[in-house]
Amino acid sequence: MENNVSVRFAPSPTGALHIGGVRTALYNYLFAKKHQGRFVLRIEDTDRTRFVPGAEAYILETLQWLGITADEGPVQGGSYGPYRQSERTDIYKPYIDRLVAEGHAYYAFDTPEELEAMRERLKAARVAAPQYNAVSRAWMRNSLTLPQEEVAALLQSGTPYVIRIKVPHDQDIRLHDSVRGWVKVKSAAIDDKVLMKSDGIPTYHFANVVDDHLMQITHVIRGEEWLPSTPIHVLLYQYLSWEATMPQFVHLPLLLKPEGTGKLSKRDAEKHGFPIFPIAWQDPDTGATAPGFREQGYLPEALLNFLALLGWSAGDNQELLDKEALIQAFSLERVGKAGVKFDIQKAAWFNQQYLRTQPDDKLVQYLQKDLVDYNITATPEKVLRVCQLLKERVTFPHDFWRQGRAFFVAPETYDEKLMAKKWTPEAYALLQALLTVFGELPTFEAEPINAALIPLIEARKLKLNQAMPAIRIALTGSGSGPDLMQSMAAIGQEEVVARITQALERNPVA
Ligand code: GLU
Repeated sequence: MENNVSVRFAPSPTGALHIGGVRTALYNYLFAKKHQGRFVLRIEDTDRTRFVPGAEAYILETLQWLGITADEGPVQGGSYGPYRQSERTDIYKPYIDRLVAEGHAYYAFDTPEELEAMRERLKAARVAAPQYNAVSRAWMRNSLTLPQEEVAALLQSGTPYVIRIKVPHDQDIRLHDSVRGWVKVKSAAIDDKVLMKSDGIPTYHFANVVDDHLMQITHVIRGEEWLPSTPIHVLLYQYLSWEATMPQFVHLPLLLKPEGTGKLSKRDAEKHGFPIFPIAWQDPDTGATAPGFREQGYLPEALLNFLALLGWSAGDNQELLDKEALIQAFSLERVGKAGVKFDIQKAAWFNQQYLRTQPDDKLVQYLQKDLVDYNITATPEKVLRVCQLLKERVTFPHDFWRQGRAFFVAPETYDEKLMAKKWTPEAYALLQALLTVFGELPTFEAEPINAALIPLIEARKLKLNQAMPAIRIALTGSGSGPDLMQSMAAIGQEEVVARITQALERNPVA
């Protein structure tokens, strides 16, 4: 197996990719890379009623942003193309003909009204799940019930039809899933799914199986929501005599709401204030834009690492794994069965970890961008200094600005609560004295600032927790921030003196 692993990510372009879909793509990618196999991107766009313009481009952009690179796909091509199902219509025809000829599929001419009447009848007979199946097909208008000449005449006259799979009445369908083990499904529980319509366009089930076979896919790694469809696929592999090369199924555990119950939905994400899409998505109908992880400041490496651990573990409690390390460590054996709670705090934690390992010039770029947006000029040294000071405190690139604004802009207001507590006559007098002391310091760096400040505080018998907050509030308007001495050095001598002057003027002590 090791040498010819072939997997595919097969999204339908029906809108933005859900974050769970990104995880599916990632697991396929990691597994392929681990085994030096092929990773195929196939666009499953046969359902034209659900086709959304822009969705394919969105999928491609997402994969590119995250570095989940396909070896074959609609953009780069490959030996098994085309990779868009809408361009493969001719390919499916002989296979459906074969199924019909061999009695595993049949034509059904029922009109929507007739189908509705069937459902009503079954409901009235208290059938729990009314469906077109081995029992009900007997009284419908299909090539199993109608005389052959009539079927031929209907086909001849162009009467619309669908082709359905003939699911056996009473049979156990067994399939092996890497995550779930052996799964047994009674055929009576599944319906005669439509495989193709009269326009020759196949449905998901049929196109999916034919393509997985023709593209020589060895492992079908996809979300658990596809497990109920798998028995149909298994029957198709049997009927097309492709059982010997049927792919191994791997159904990934569900992503659950942060509360831990039920599948994670877009609405849950909205409720908790986090994105569900990898990158922002503009709905072509409403024009509304839904946020993406990228736009919120998630780094692709961090998001990859976070997603990789949603349903898989490296086995040694290791959490920080870059793409290479993930590839090395990845194995299907460590994919879990249980649904995984979506913990956005954890995603943020990963971002923090990756952000702080970025080179300084990268961090400078982040802050510089915001400074430009806010029309602020600062020396490169100062920008670098601020980044270094904040590096351990930020989660997102934009935090450098959010938390570092006070280094560049004098306070407009002063935290009133803190003022009431800390702006004492003693603190005021200390700040007055500091104006001269700071103004005269030959080197305005953390060490000398500290050396000048401490004796002054001690001489005045002030406590550090009285003095320091007063100085900080005079400089920044608020009570929190990184190391105060370093902060003063970063703000700069002239500016520190100017800000103390302003604070004393604006907040006179009675
Ligand atoms: N087109 C399906 C989807 O949208 C693919 C499911 C599968 O991987 O078989 O997810």
